[in-house]
Amino acid sequence: MSDKKLIPKNENQRLKALEYYEIMDTQTEERFDNLTKLASEICQTPIALVSLLDENRQWFKSKVGIDVNETPRDISFCQHAILDKEVFEVPDATKDDRFSQNVLVLDDPSIRFYAGQPLITSDGYALGTLCVIDKAPKKLEPHQVNALKILAKEVTQLIEARKLTMELTEYKKFFTMSLDFLCIAGTDGYFKKLNPSFSEKLGYTEEELLSKPFTDFVHPDDIDATIFETHKLSKGYTSIGFENRYRKKDGSYINMHWTCQPDPITGELFAVAHDISELRTLEQELTRSNEHLDQFAYIVSHDLKAPLRAISTLATFLEEDLDGKLDDVSKKNLDLLHSRVDRMNNLIKGILDYSRAGREKVTQSEINVSDLILETWKNLDNKGFNLELDSRFPAVHFPKVQLEQIFQNLISNGIKYHHKNEGTIKIGYIDKGDIHIFTVEDDGPGIDKKYQKKIFEIFQTLQSKDEVESTGIGLSIVKKILNENGGNIWVQSEPGIGSKFFFSIPK
Ligand code: ADP
Repeated sequence: MSDKKLIPKNENQRLKALEYYEIMDTQTEERFDNLTKLASEICQTPIALVSLLDENRQWFKSKVGIDVNETPRDISFCQHAILDKEVFEVPDATKDDRFSQNVLVLDDPSIRFYAGQPLITSDGYALGTLCVIDKAPKKLEPHQVNALKILAKEVTQLIEARKLTMELTEYKKFFTMSLDFLCIAGTDGYFKKLNPSFSEKLGYTEEELLSKPFTDFVHPDDIDATIFETHKLSKGYTSIGFENRYRKKDGSYINMHWTCQPDPITGELFAVAHDISELRTLEQELTRSNEHLDQFAYIVSHDLKAPLRAISTLATFLEEDLDGKLDDVSKKNLDLLHSRVDRMNNLIKGILDYSRAGREKVTQSEINVSDLILETWKNLDNKGFNLELDSRFPAVHFPKVQLEQIFQNLISNGIKYHHKNEGTIKIGYIDKGDIHIFTVEDDGPGIDKKYQKKIFEIFQTLQSKDEVESTGIGLSIVKKILNENGGNIWVQSEPGIGSKFFFSIPK
């Protein structure tokens, strides 16, 4: 019979199992070699092997009495052995049709006798065999068959234990190398196991950290919350996102962000914490600089408004004092002075609005968008204009006043910058997965492509100031509000046809 590859029924999973154990082509190991030697001695054969079968070859993890490391799978005796669970025995290969023409029989090592016990994992996959081979015909005694079985079980357990050790080493590495804080704490309020991050970042030795209740290291103001959170955990709840401050040896504090889960059996707490000190410092700095900015904007606008008021009052005095004596040119100049003062007032108010836009601490509520748009429309000077709404708008979560401000700005722009006294404003909605997109479209003069980005910058206006009163602040405020709330705004426009503003807000 010719040599051919025999395929067990569960071959794909069997190969996956072999791969999982990561044993092929590894170094020799004494523990395997001892078992192989024992098999050879008990069975009284010159050759014994731990043979593992991958897709195309049998490779010897351990060998006695033979020099080669592997042979092709299709000439191997072991491929026959792994088809069954019991010892596969060939007393005389020259008299066995399956092997009489086999190169391993005809040529070196001139196999006559073969007995192999499959190495069957706890999941039931035969990875290979523990086999014994002789150059002379032979039959194993029952006690030898039994010993071969026991030794094969030992080999399999070694393979499994080896993998377990590898995994444990990996987990240990992960534990020791993690830059985050990893720990196990007992229900008694003491740390049980800590990864090196604790000592490295807090500055205490591991012994110091293990010797006191963990609350001893917590900021006094956070102790109550920490005790409460630990109590919750002891009742079996998971804790995600709890924050407290740990005192370093130098007296400073680290802000920790915890995720913790109690072991349902022992009650021990398995926890991971991330150092968020930098984030908290940045937040504090941001709040501080926002407060400064508010103060600055308030003071500047207040200081600028006072002289403006004076200019306006003085101009009125002049008008009154010179009543009847002013020629037309001087009257026109005084009117111009008043209107410039108004514009300056608008600009100052705009700066104040812009500096505050999007940062007010407002709660989000569920908003009926159609109602909000209709209300906004009612409050606008919309004479000559039609409003067209999409048939359906979703309810959205957003700060209400700010959404009103956005629609108010975009709709009033559509009217204010329209080249005619009449027109149509269309408001639409596009559902884009996890974002809402609203559109505000007009049939006004449109915006040249080269200005389509610029108009969102503060103080950018396209018309001459005498044509339309414009500070160029509205769209920059809208953009700021949207950006602060995770949204965005952009425009598509065709000069002579109209403009369509799109704005997105997260769902
Ligand atoms: P303002 O607050 O003074 O109204 P915006 O920042 O809202 O200014 O707008 C900036 C400039 O963009 C406006 O001066 C105008 O030239 C242009 N613009 C805004 N909306 C439209 C529109 N719907 N159609 C044409 N131009 C527009």
